[in-house]
Amino acid sequence: MTPYPAELQLSGRRVVVVGGSGAAHRHVAGLVAAGARVTLVAPALTPALESLVAAGRVDRRPRRYATGDLDGAWFAVAATGDPAVDAVVARDAEAARIHYTWDETRPAPDLPSSGGVVLVGGGPGDPGLITVRGQRALDEADVVVVDHLAPQGLLSSLAPHVEVVDASKLPRGRAMAQERINELLVAHARAGRRVVRLKGGDPFVFGRGMEELEACTAAGVPVEVVPGVTSAVAVPALAGVPVTHRGLTHEFVVVSGHVPPGDPSSLVDWAALGRLRGTVVVLMGVDTAARIAEALVEHGRAPATPVAVVVDGASPTQRVLRTTLAGLGATMAHEAVRPPAVWVVGDVVDLAGTPSPAAGPRVAEAAVGNSR
Ligand code: SAH
Repeated sequence: MTPYPAELQLSGRRVVVVGGSGAAHRHVAGLVAAGARVTLVAPALTPALESLVAAGRVDRRPRRYATGDLDGAWFAVAATGDPAVDAVVARDAEAARIHYTWDETRPAPDLPSSGGVVLVGGGPGDPGLITVRGQRALDEADVVVVDHLAPQGLLSSLAPHVEVVDASKLPRGRAMAQERINELLVAHARAGRRVVRLKGGDPFVFGRGMEELEACTAAGVPVEVVPGVTSAVAVPALAGVPVTHRGLTHEFVVVSGHVPPGDPSSLVDWAALGRLRGTVVVLMGVDTAARIAEALVEHGRAPATPVAVVVDGASPTQRVLRTTLAGLGATMAHEAVRPPAVWVVGDVVDLAGTPSPAAGPRVAEAAVGNSR
């Protein structure tokens, strides 16, 4: 029978996904984007799924499927990779009159030997913020190698034969080694596949994109770059903070905070940043925030300089916290801020409160609700 194509309204409704691999990842990404309350039943998870569980966006039963797991669900997904288990899930769903879908991943069609890699910047998290060219590359992909900060919602619309490879590097958690990622890109391309390397923000802003490009070039694999909307600019913007403003700021600097001031491996001139009048945007600086703020003040920035911290930018859980350099460490601790977050220092922060129209009502509420 031909299936009937329907769009389900699942917002706030319980959905059970059985399985924790790439196939489950793609379904969960779409379900979370649709606002479903997802319960994952799986003994093991890919890193990106693990990060959704750790962030409290998905519930998990860390074991194999058992009859009864579908109780209370409106919809179920059987994506274990084991046809026998999927069949049990389907049978239970039938018995309980719960709609369900199989993981419909199919082998790739015969490929022309025209493999290559496209490094795509996916933007800060909202699937609508990928570029047209990036979306086109995804539409044509055979394999998508994805990071956990890339917009997960884009995975749900991939064609059934597309293989999804989770290459997440979780902060202080599981991570696929960069060498392994490079090898994968090259191996898939050499096998004639069109590979999209889907990254968060822009591939060349603290994204190790150049290393991947060099690995492909060294292996003789054709590689193309599709720039993305970087979180360094877009995440503040979605919170109503412009990184520049006429008459106020003629510069903005984007800094990685992954190593604190004073660390021998730091390449940042913190003293120069302390003397700067303009905007400082810090990425990967949740744990190091207090020490960075201290260094900026020590080198001349006023302790009362306003700071905005934007957590989970461009997602339904976006939060905006307002503080000052002097108060930053305490705010981070008190609000239990976890990555991903961008924080912005400078007078431009005081302009927030009139969120941009493009940000939409959801973001506007977050910015207003949490300001001051
Ligand atoms: N290439 C990416 C940045 C990679 S570094 C880009 O151009 O955006 C990862 C850091 O980016 C995170 O630690 C966080 O500081 C920031 N980041 C990325 N996505 C974010 C988001 N949706 N909300 C808040 N910060 C984000």
